[in-house]
Amino acid sequence: MVSSHVQPNPTPAPPRFELLTLGDELLLGLTANTHLAFIGGELARHGVELARNVTVGDAATAIAAEVATSWARADVVIVTGGLGPTCDDRTREAVAGVLGEELVFDPAIERAIAERFARFGRLMTPNNRKQACRFARGEVLPNAHGTAPGLWLGRDGKVLVMLPGPPGELQPMFATQVLPRLARLGLLAEREPYVQFRTAGVGESLLETKLQPLFDRYGDALTVGFCAHHGTVDVRLSSSDSRLGLARLEQLAAGCAQLLGEDFVCHGHDSLAKACAELLRTREKKLAVAEAATGGLLAAALNELCGACKFFAGGVVCCANEAKIQLLGVPECLLKQHGAVSAECAVALATGAAEMFGADYALAITGSVADGSAPPWDARNLPSSAGTAGNGATPPNGGSLENPVGTMFLALHAPHGTWSKKITAPGARCAARQKAVSTALDWLRRELLRAAA
Ligand code: ATP
Repeated sequence: MVSSHVQPNPTPAPPRFELLTLGDELLLGLTANTHLAFIGGELARHGVELARNVTVGDAATAIAAEVATSWARADVVIVTGGLGPTCDDRTREAVAGVLGEELVFDPAIERAIAERFARFGRLMTPNNRKQACRFARGEVLPNAHGTAPGLWLGRDGKVLVMLPGPPGELQPMFATQVLPRLARLGLLAEREPYVQFRTAGVGESLLETKLQPLFDRYGDALTVGFCAHHGTVDVRLSSSDSRLGLARLEQLAAGCAQLLGEDFVCHGHDSLAKACAELLRTREKKLAVAEAATGGLLAAALNELCGACKFFAGGVVCCANEAKIQLLGVPECLLKQHGAVSAECAVALATGAAEMFGADYALAITGSVADGSAPPWDARNLPSSAGTAGNGATPPNGGSLENPVGTMFLALHAPHGTWSKKITAPGARCAARQKAVSTALDWLRRELLRAAA
């Protein structure tokens, strides 16, 4: 007889993954911790949520203490950095010490390092031999893009992975060696545990208000996350206890897309540039750009896409007025009358770029952004009385009373007209420029959608 007190077997807890990112340069703010974004993102795409990331300096005692803590409570511990040949690369020794593992010299690793040095005609100094040490009971993850191999240790039902610091070495090693090994051990799920879509042109609070009636139908079975970027907001739909399957979440995302109309960009993580590229490609149209304030950021966003030459005719970076005049035919009198930070200048840049490249569409960005050497709240960036409008000259911080720092003019040239738009982005230089780029791309995306309708 089965007792009524017997509880059903609880679902086994998912494996716990922890990431230790090592390096003084991360704590000093000299290097951004992109390994967290990359590894966290890759794991999430394979159904695993990273439980914790700790960043530690190069001191061996600090490394050993954090490795011991993570090893005690996690199923998979990933350690990045500090595998190189120099005296500040102490990860191998610190980890071996704290886990009681023996390090052995592996001549096969040394041969691979020596071959790499020979291939590039470089001298292999003796300190490089340090990188040829591995755990006696562990395995080696060959490094196709650098000298220090990754290390893999399986013990007590747990896994320790050590990866080299340079992103160009770590990322391919993680994608081609670590993920497949974790999958073979059954530590990854087959599909993303969530559904994500990207929106543009609506702030996150308004977005939530618009979508809430759809979300309300699912009560607490649905978990919703919002993540705002420059000009876009991502919405993540999941169901932590799996009451809503992926098919149901995808159906809900499709309902959100319908409700949002043009504000919906795409399912998944694609950039605004990619959304524009796809629309241009399907319509067999080409785009050109002219940039002053963004110095090539817009062109770079388009150019990094595969097959860019199919839809991106080219771009001009024209910071100086002479370049605007000589390269894109902006009339000198227009600059004298309206200044470089003006709707008139933006329109002339866009039409000039379309003509120069023989493109169907063109985007232009001109404006004044905060001085990169000083934060925007610095006194040096307060509006100055020296104006840009009227004399065509640009004061040191690029601002004026009429168009203070952070004023930008965009222009969109299309087969049936050219328009301008003024935006204000008074924040830090980098954020202001990103805002201009995403606003320009979103404008083009909407125009292309309407052109098709
Ligand atoms: P190397 O052989 O180059 O010394 P390593 O494995 O010892 O490699 P580190 O010396 O810690 O790694 O870092 C090498 C490079 O990788 C540095 O430029 C460092 O800034 C970068 N790097 C390290 N950790 C990170 C991280 N978490 N995110 C982004 N870059 C990182």
